[in-house]
Amino acid sequence: MADKYEQVLELAKRRGFIWNSFELYGGTAGFYDYGPLGAMLKRRVENIWRDIFVINEGYYEIESPTIGIEDVFIASGHVGGFSDPLTECQKCNEAFRADHLVKDIMDNPDTLGADELTKVLNKNNIKCPECGGKLGNVYEFNLMFKTSIGPGGKRAGYLRPETAQGMFVDFQRLLKFYRDHLPFGATQIGKAYRNEISPRQGVIRLREFTQAEAEIFIDPRDKTHPKFAEVADIVLNLYSQEGQAEGSSEKMSINEAVKKGIIAHEFLAYCLAMTYRFLMRVGVSPDKLRFRQHMKDEMAHYAADCWDAEILSERFGWVEVVGIADRTDYDLKAHAKQSETELTVYVSYDTPKKIERFAVKPDMGILGPMFKGKAGKIANALKALKPEELSADAIELTIDGEQIKIEKNAVTFETVCEEVHGENIIPHVIEPSFGIDRIVYSLLEHSYSEEEAEEEGEEDKTRIVLRLPAEVAPVQAAVLPLLTREELIKPANEIVKMLRKTGILVSFDDSGTIGRRYRRNDEIGTPYSITVDYQTLDDGTVTIRDRDSMKQVRAGMSNIADNIHELIYNGKSFEDAGKKI
Ligand code: AMP
Repeated sequence: MADKYEQVLELAKRRGFIWNSFELYGGTAGFYDYGPLGAMLKRRVENIWRDIFVINEGYYEIESPTIGIEDVFIASGHVGGFSDPLTECQKCNEAFRADHLVKDIMDNPDTLGADELTKVLNKNNIKCPECGGKLGNVYEFNLMFKTSIGPGGKRAGYLRPETAQGMFVDFQRLLKFYRDHLPFGATQIGKAYRNEISPRQGVIRLREFTQAEAEIFIDPRDKTHPKFAEVADIVLNLYSQEGQAEGSSEKMSINEAVKKGIIAHEFLAYCLAMTYRFLMRVGVSPDKLRFRQHMKDEMAHYAADCWDAEILSERFGWVEVVGIADRTDYDLKAHAKQSETELTVYVSYDTPKKIERFAVKPDMGILGPMFKGKAGKIANALKALKPEELSADAIELTIDGEQIKIEKNAVTFETVCEEVHGENIIPHVIEPSFGIDRIVYSLLEHSYSEEEAEEEGEEDKTRIVLRLPAEVAPVQAAVLPLLTREELIKPANEIVKMLRKTGILVSFDDSGTIGRRYRRNDEIGTPYSITVDYQTLDDGTVTIRDRDSMKQVRAGMSNIADNIHELIYNGKSFEDAGKKI
């Protein structure tokens, strides 16, 4: 029997959600097209993400190129270290991820280097899964797609492997935009590219995919969140480091998790809560979601804490769909070093600090006549000296390549007390990073159901339903004249017009029995079907059918657009949408 993945993909292909890219030419692994319904579903998911992160959190969206120059990815570490361990079959030349081949033998094989993986493969006599041939030595394969910018191939470029770098590179501009105040955040929804070694996980592991990322720059001295109280009581299914050691996850409020030190701090916990709210709103099943903390050896060395939102899929098990990390000052420091530019923010203290400072005072009465034009440079060099460098009888300086000896009587030094009002700091970055395609697939899988249902006018008892939230369903309402008669088609067309005017995507369907038409809409997740019948002509009412319960209410035609809008966007109950019939 077909498993859920096959059932979902069969529906997705047949009804225009997801198609293999380049199908005409036989397709290639890791690339998928979104068909008419899939593209709309994806857009709705992205717009909910925008609603949460851009509109409600105020993290404006930017758009940077999908091709990056080499400097960017040297700084980010992608040129040096963004690789997966590759082994090739010596017989059939198939390529495999070595860590995937040994994942049933050991925990966390992704922490091993290429040589260690080669040893594990050899020791366990692991052969090519395709043809049984001998596997070659493991080596690191960089996952970035390389290209060149301009003619002649002189300047290297890379397709970006994540959208995040765009926000780091624009840090100074963003800082000005946000009027030099922390915290601030920027977001980006766009394509990312990774030349995955041999993607065998269908729509889960892609070579071109869409990320929605927020980079939130915060003051490292204060990792609280002003709106923490609003999310403190949200209960999450946490699979912490400790839980993983014991093999069990635990449901816990965000507040408790922060208090117990399980989640490192409030700001990160707030991001977990936003992630939870987003995933619930788009239609992930709450019982198929967990937040898994990275184990110590899995976490990047610079990260303070890192959690993945994982969604349970029938075929693939727990799949990471979101990564939420406290990346500390790593990215800004790296770009500051590579670009030789200071990437800091001036932060004022609440109350000025008194600081004792060692001050060197060059005596210009001595230095001036003695060194003339060079005296200014010498004075500056003396001021920069540390106390221990002044302890010798005479001070040696190198000015413009010339060795100069200064007698001690030309300088005095003392400790002065100064009032300091602030300092330049490097912000820390909190990054929630969403894989939109994996989320879209999860929604399809979680909302897919096949059930036995009897309904008037439909002989086929098996009903396929996509129980997508109304807000994400690609087609939001179907308008169905009961019969293909002019007197019913006319008001149906009027309803279509009214709905379109309010931005609702409607389909008009007048072919086949009404039961068949309901089924056609159920399987693409259309939440409401509006049927025009002869009563409509008498009293100006129509029926609205609810996809999930298959119940019907009778409601007025004149305000149908408002009614449907309220149902989709404002949580109006179906019973309130009309009077029951
Ligand atoms: P990462 O930067 O690896 O933490 O990725 C961030 C998010 O992008 C992950 O949580 C995934 O949802 C998504 N992602 C990463 N790699 C792929 C891929 N090859 N195909 C689809 N989505 C991916």
